[in-house]
Amino acid sequence: MKHQPRKRFGQNFLVDAGVIAAIVAAIAPARDDRMVEIGPGRGALTRPLLAAVEHLHAIEIDRDLAAELTREFAPRLTVHTADVLGFDFATLGNALRVVGNLPYNISTPLLFHVDRYGEQIRDIHVMLQKEIVARMVAAPSSSAYGRLSVMLQYRFELEKLIDVPAAAFDPAPKVASAVVRLTPLRPPRVAARDYAWFACIVKTAFSQRRKTLRNSLSVFLAEPDWRSLAIAPTARAQELSVAQFVAIADYVSSRTTG
Ligand code: SAM
Repeated sequence: MKHQPRKRFGQNFLVDAGVIAAIVAAIAPARDDRMVEIGPGRGALTRPLLAAVEHLHAIEIDRDLAAELTREFAPRLTVHTADVLGFDFATLGNALRVVGNLPYNISTPLLFHVDRYGEQIRDIHVMLQKEIVARMVAAPSSSAYGRLSVMLQYRFELEKLIDVPAAAFDPAPKVASAVVRLTPLRPPRVAARDYAWFACIVKTAFSQRRKTLRNSLSVFLAEPDWRSLAIAPTARAQELSVAQFVAIADYVSSRTTG
């Protein structure tokens, strides 16, 4: 497929056959899987996926690539010419297996977008900048642990699978990449009473990550509250587990709504 890579769409195409085979092997597609590929590009992953599954959905923002992919692979491939950040995954049904080698400039908003469709998703395999993957899988008290780690680990089991060097792409990006698997936790390890409160507390705590919780969450909690929660107000956001964030959110939400 001939196509000049477009910078504005973050187009770095996978060209390393070994890496492509390793990714598809990690996904282990089965004939009747309901699979969705985000950003199929020139079809590096699309081709081997279509060799394994009956039908594939793809979401591609670049009209020229979308048209070429449709020409080459329809009807077994359905291309949705759209921005994935506004795409309603619920329209594709349940047990979705999402696959993507994503443009790195939209990876964080995209992860927050697919996070909303946890119910519909069986698993997600994505290639991302290595540092982002490190943030996703980070444990509390490590420097990479932050809002992204907490919000994703609340809903998903996360597993880093493959390191991918820049040379595996054309053109080669400036950064190294890694493939990560996200599997929705069913049932969840901990369930917040009110998810919106959980998201709000996590966002507020990490928006001033160097401050103590006493300072960053002072709008919500005072000294006696920290004692009731048995959490040290001198701790910083990056020291708290997902369960502790849920405990804080539940405490605040039960006090607000009774
Ligand atoms: N999957 C291909 C591969 O591995 O060679 C292409 C990867 S390239 C890094 C990212 C792809 O995502 C491009 O095809 C680009 O046009 C597409 N893309 C970029 N932004 C997008 C968006 N907001 N929604 C859907 N697709 C997007």
